[in-house]
Amino acid sequence: MKLIADLEQRLRGLDAASLTRRRRTVATACAPRLEIDGRPLLAFCSNDYLGLAAHPAVVAALREGATLYGAGSGASHLISGHGRAHALLEERLAATQAASIPDARALTFSTGYMANLAILTALGGDADCAMFCESLNHASLIDGARLARAAVSVYPHADTAALAVQLAASTAGTKIVVTDSVFSMDGDLAPLAALLALCERHHAWLVVDDAHGFGTLGKHGHGALAQAGLHSPNLVYMGTLGKAAGVAGAFVAAHASVIEWLIQRARPYIYTTAAPPALAHALLASLDIIEGPEGASRRAHLDALIGRFRRDVKVAPWTLGLSATAIQPIIIGDNDAALRAGAGLYGRGLWVPAIRPPTVAAGTARLRVTLSAAHTDDDLAQLIGALNDLERCAP
Ligand SMILES: *Cc1c(COP(=O)(O)O)cnc(C)c1O
Repeated sequence: MKLIADLEQRLRGLDAASLTRRRRTVATACAPRLEIDGRPLLAFCSNDYLGLAAHPAVVAALREGATLYGAGSGASHLISGHGRAHALLEERLAATQAASIPDARALTFSTGYMANLAILTALGGDADCAMFCESLNHASLIDGARLARAAVSVYPHADTAALAVQLAASTAGTKIVVTDSVFSMDGDLAPLAALLALCERHHAWLVVDDAHGFGTLGKHGHGALAQAGLHSPNLVYMGTLGKAAGVAGAFVAAHASVIEWLIQRARPYIYTTAAPPALAHALLASLDIIEGPEGASRRAHLDALIGRFRRDVKVAPWTLGLSATAIQPIIIGDNDAALRAGAGLYGRGLWVPAIRPPTVAAGTARLRVTLSAAHTDDDLAQLIGALNDLERCAP
């Protein structure tokens, strides 16, 4: 019983610090209007930025994929799990980054978490490697850096001057700069053009995690590299397929030789069962929407919602983060105050998650509003009204 008692004491400690996390069980499909415990709610939580998670064409393709290919892949990609749908999807995904990366090829993964572990452990696998990580990087990049054998240094958020000093001081044989494109809890964008210029000068890889950009940013929704107009063989791109693309999984796009190296060496690619091919089939339908006129009009609607939210919401004495993306953080500070704000909205039928440490730095607990093309103008008006009415005390 000692082991259990120790854990229970630590759990009580989390509770005392307002750090306990609770799951709510959603009874309906991913959409702004959902149901929890029989109660209807209007949600501003999901990363389904284009409203494709329950899109009829994507759902129909998932069903068709199951009919064609069954439910499971049965094995890893290097044994017998690599199916025609995976191969077609890789070709389509490689094409999305072809304007940014010469001789681009793509490789799919079951999750973005695994894709990041794969990139960083395969490229940073020897001791003569140095990794330079942005301080607000996603947990999966932090874990990938820990798992790699490279020496890791962290540079301050968006501080390219500090990164330049670190790169210049490094004598490592292989240098890897690692960054989110859209920071997941802040919504701001990394200075990708400046980062790439530094990487080219220092012969470093630039690993870009575009989990929140693929589908929403750039022409045809091709993401942050396309939006920034970058082009380089130093780029290693990771896009996720469970956020704007509405399904599940992720991909890495890079020069063909990088992808071949991942296939040969990346343990999170090699030693895991391939995702169900039906998911890849559904993603082909999702890509059709993202790249076509419907995707463009969904992105335009989302951009209009973002603009209106920033114009009309009144958050003082809290702060609205400087974000032009669908992620709109309202920084409150205190954990308990953030929880109370979230509960106040919940009481009015609105679901906005309160984000606390360790997901964000201590003292920066926040409400994280995420907007989606599936929200209507009316949904947004409800959110703005409720936020503007919310009781608050100075941070
Ligand atoms: C969500 C996310 C991931 C992980 O992707 P999953 O497919 O959900 O595992 C990686 N990086 C960032 C920045 C993310 O927001």
